[in-house]
Formats: sequence, structure tokens, C-alpha cells
Amino acid sequence: MSRELAELLKLEGIDNSAVLRAVAMVPREQFVSPQLKKLAYIDESLPIGHEQTISQPFVVARMTELLLQQHPCKRVLEIGTGSGYQAAILAQLVEEVYTVERIRPLYEQAKQRFQQLGYTNIHLLLADGNLGWKEHSPYDGIIVTAAALNIPPALPLQLAEGGRLIIPVGPHYQLQELCRITRHDKQFPQEWYDSVIFVPLRAGIAED
Ligand code: SAH
Repeated sequence: MSRELAELLKLEGIDNSAVLRAVAMVPREQFVSPQLKKLAYIDESLPIGHEQTISQPFVVARMTELLLQQHPCKRVLEIGTGSGYQAAILAQLVEEVYTVERIRPLYEQAKQRFQQLGYTNIHLLLADGNLGWKEHSPYDGIIVTAAALNIPPALPLQLAEGGRLIIPVGPHYQLQELCRITRHDKQFPQEWYDSVIFVPLRAGIAED
């Protein structure tokens, strides 16, 4: 089934073969609730509770492709663990994945999932991802999987030289644009790509 999803994404325009192989390897049905398993291999985002969603596979693949395009990465930070699916895709492609989530039940569930599925190179933190995860910086890449009104200033500073930040920027619950920011000396040039819709990047750790 993951293999068919990879074939679909190829038809939709994803052409990085390593990314397509990663999609073919990760069982997306393990990242959604039992009732939604039959929908796991269509190219749609799905609810995961707490008003959050597992991202659309095309968008996961696209962001991963923008990160890795002619730019091998060893250490990548993700902001917004959610279901853990994007982190699991990254874990196939890079040495170490660091991922930050602000909602405790999602953090706990993802942690358990990674253990069950045998992902040993994904490291989780319950915190406000606007601050990044300084302890393990610098990163070759950072992927933010929630929409930011503005680029959180801490994130570009946690990139290694030549490192890339991929982030959807724009208003809540409307079209946002994928931005790729590269660290070059003291410059942070921006490139703009697809329109997407993500759940909002919030401030602070969730209280419940
Ligand atoms: N990458 C996820 C997508 C989850 S949706 C996946 O593959 O399933 C976005 C996630 O970002 C939600 O879980 C939400 O709680 C989280 N999020 C929003 N604001 C955040 C913040 N400031 N810090 C950390 N996580 C945040």
C-alpha cells in the first residue's frame, strides 16, 4: 500500500527517488487511528485528535524533497511531531531526527509508536518549537509542519552553514506558502514554493 502511495506521489510530481523510497517504506496506517486506516493511503491529510492533522503525503514528500535537493543532510529538526509520520519519513533518509511537539498526548503517542516500529534515530521533545531545540543544534535542516504567521527568529540561527529551513508561512486556516531559507554566512536568503494549508504554529506548551 505504501508502495502505491509512492507511485501516486511520483505521478503528482515528486521526483526525488530517495524520498519516494522512504514513502514506500513507511506504513502510514500505523500513524492514524484504527477507524482511519482504510484512508491512510489516499493523498489527504487526516485528523489525529486535539484539532491536529497528519499532513497530506504529497506535502510531506514535497517538503522533504525541498530539504534534500542537492543537499545531503545528517541531522534534521522537525517542529510539530503530530502523528510522527513526517519524522518517520525523515528517519529513513538522514542519520538523526529531532522532533518537537507541544501537545503532551501527541508527544506520548508518537514516542510509543517510534518504539513499537523500531525507529531508534528519532529523538522527541515536549516543548514550544518556536524556540527550536538548541541543545542538539546546529542542524543541516529544519522542517516546520505547522503554519507560522512569521518565521520564528530562533530557527534560522540553529542551522549549520548551508543548512535549510522549510516552513509554511501565512495566515491561520488559509493558503500559506512554503518558504525555504538557507543559511549562507550571515545571510538568510528565502525561496518560495507551493501553496499549502497547515494547522497553526502555536506559542507555548499546551495546558491540558
Ligand atoms: N508532522 C506532523 C504534522 C502534525 S500537525 C505529522 O506528520 O503528523 C502540526 C503539529 O504541530 C501538531 O501536532 C501541533 O500540536 C504541533 N505544533 C503547533 N505549534 C507547535 C509549537 N509551537 N511547538 C511544537 N509543536 C507545535
